[in-house]
Amino acid sequence: MDTRFGAVRIIPGEDKSRFPHCTSLFIDDDVKTVVDPGAGVKTLSALKESTAVDMVIDTHCHFDHISCNYLFDTARIFINEQEASCFRDRRNLGALLGMKEVYGSDWVDRWVERISDPATKPSPYSPQNSHNWWLSTARVDGEYRWGDVMDFGRTRMHIIGAPGHSAGFSCLYFPEHGAMYVADIDLTSFGPWYGGSDGDIDAFISSCSLISSMDCDTFITGHEHGVVRREDFLAGLERFLAMIDERDERIRSLLKKPLTLEEIAESGPIYGRKYHSAAWVYMWEYLMVKKHVERMTARGRINDVGGRYAAA
Ligand SMILES: [Zn+2]
Repeated sequence: MDTRFGAVRIIPGEDKSRFPHCTSLFIDDDVKTVVDPGAGVKTLSALKESTAVDMVIDTHCHFDHISCNYLFDTARIFINEQEASCFRDRRNLGALLGMKEVYGSDWVDRWVERISDPATKPSPYSPQNSHNWWLSTARVDGEYRWGDVMDFGRTRMHIIGAPGHSAGFSCLYFPEHGAMYVADIDLTSFGPWYGGSDGDIDAFISSCSLISSMDCDTFITGHEHGVVRREDFLAGLERFLAMIDERDERIRSLLKKPLTLEEIAESGPIYGRKYHSAAWVYMWEYLMVKKHVERMTARGRINDVGGRYAAA
């Protein structure tokens, strides 16, 4: 299996599928379907020129997986039921991404205004102010649920609920081919991402153990690697999840004296300080730090000393 299995074509994203691009799938069946249209405008425009696309399926609402929804203006756009409200009201997206929790509701309103304007200046290190956010969240035509089996003609695809990266995050399993699109369970050296307000470290770990228990020989990651055989996937997943413990240790080593969440985040244990000039990167730094600190506090590894935290 190389770039195709059955009717499914794997479409590598531009720039090696690095964020903000991703690997997409094209299901070239009776119902012609693009999965996670983040491969890049050039790549997906060429696909659109060559065939009529009936359906777009987004595994979750993050920019790098939906950025070209807007290109497929005659297709029906589907996303998981937990995140569909983000496309009906972008303020819900602002809440899931963390903006409301860190910067407040007014900030979310101003963000929606900024992305509505094609002239808004892009932000460094993140697609925060991209007008494509606006274009690609303009409508949703259907919702799928975890456990659904979608039939495209010759191809059947099972929706596997895999929360943690986002609340509605879904992996797409093709049992006849022993293949699964795992999107952001991507084995990259950055490690797992759970920076949104709906991200959850323990759910992420459980979801990884669920997908690795499934009868599947081929995993397709959304970033960098692409097609990964089972054995390599399992080894890569172990290294990938080990980043969670490494982050714990990095944060704990800062807590020889008690610090607030803000003080911990400012030292940049996840992304590094130099990226904090981008409001979204600092936001995710803070939220990931908060999740680690809460988790270690619950496990007795950190003590809460009146709103400051110290290593136990
Ligand atoms: Zn994502």
